[in-house]
Amino acid sequence: VVEIRDLHKSYGQLEVLKGVDIVARKGDVVSLIGSSGSGKSTLLRCANLLEDSQKGEILFEGEPVKWKGQGAARRPADRAQVTRIRTNLSMVFQQFNLWAHMTILQNVMEAPVTVLKRDRPEVEDAARRYLEKVGIGDKCNAYPAQLSGGQQQRAAIARGLCMEPRALLFDEPTSALDPELEQEVVKVIRALADEGRTMLIVTHDMRMAHDVSSHVVFLHQGLIAEEGAPGTVLKNPQTDRLRQFLSASA
Ligand code: ATP
Ligand code: MG
Repeated sequence: VVEIRDLHKSYGQLEVLKGVDIVARKGDVVSLIGSSGSGKSTLLRCANLLEDSQKGEILFEGEPVKWKGQGAARRPADRAQVTRIRTNLSMVFQQFNLWAHMTILQNVMEAPVTVLKRDRPEVEDAARRYLEKVGIGDKCNAYPAQLSGGQQQRAAIARGLCMEPRALLFDEPTSALDPELEQEVVKVIRALADEGRTMLIVTHDMRMAHDVSSHVVFLHQGLIAEEGAPGTVLKNPQTDRLRQFLSASA
C-alpha cells in the first residue's frame, strides 16, 4: 500500500505538485496520465523518495515517511527508512538504465546481491526465473547492447521484480519503443496486473491504461483534475481538459 496525501513539490519558484492524493492498495494498478510537464514523473520520484517534497505525507504500508525540517528544507529523517522504501518500490524507467558492461543476468542480480545482501545462488535462481517470466530467459549471457529495445525493457522489469518489491513504479515504460516492441512490454505489464501486483504506471498509452488499470488519475497543472475507473475516465471524461487531452493523444 502506497499512500500520498496532499503532496506539494516545487522546483524553486515552479510549483509542480499542488496537493496531490493518490492511494495504491495491494493489487491496485493506478495509471497516471496527463500532458507533458504536468508532474507525472515528479510524482513517481517523490513517492520513491528520489526527490524531496515540501509538504504532505507519503505512507508506505501505513508507515509515514519521517521528515526533518520544513518547507524547502524538508528532508527524510531516517536513511534506513528511505532505503527500505526505495527497495520496496522498484522503479522502471523509460530508458531502461541497464549497466552496459554487465550481462543481462548480472544486471538483474546486482541490486539484490549488493543492496539487499541476499545469497548469490538464490538470487541467481530468482533472476533466471524472472527473465524467463518476461520471455527473455535465453538472453541471460547477452549484454544490453545485444538486445532489442523491447527486450531491454523486459530485462529492466525483471530487474525490478528481482528486488521482490511490494510495488512497481513505471515511468513511461513503453514510450521509447517501436509499436511492435511496445506490445511485448504491454503484455508483460498486463500479466503482472493479472497476478495482482501493485503498480503505479505513468503512461502515454491510453490503450494500456484502459486495459491494465484498476484506477486512472489525470494530472493537470499539478492537481488531480479527474480520476476513477478506466472505463469512466477514458471513455466518459467529465471535464474539457481531459476531453482535450484524450483527443490529442488518440
Ligand atoms: P513528460 O510527460 O514530458 O514526461 P511529466 O508530467 O513527467 O512530463 P515532470 O518531468 O514531472 O513532467 O516535470 C514537471 C515540471 O517540473 C516541468 O515543468 C519540468 O520542467 C519541471 N522539472 C522537472 N524536473 C526538474 C528539475 N530537476 N529541476 C527543475 N525543474 C524540473
Ligand atoms: Mg515524465
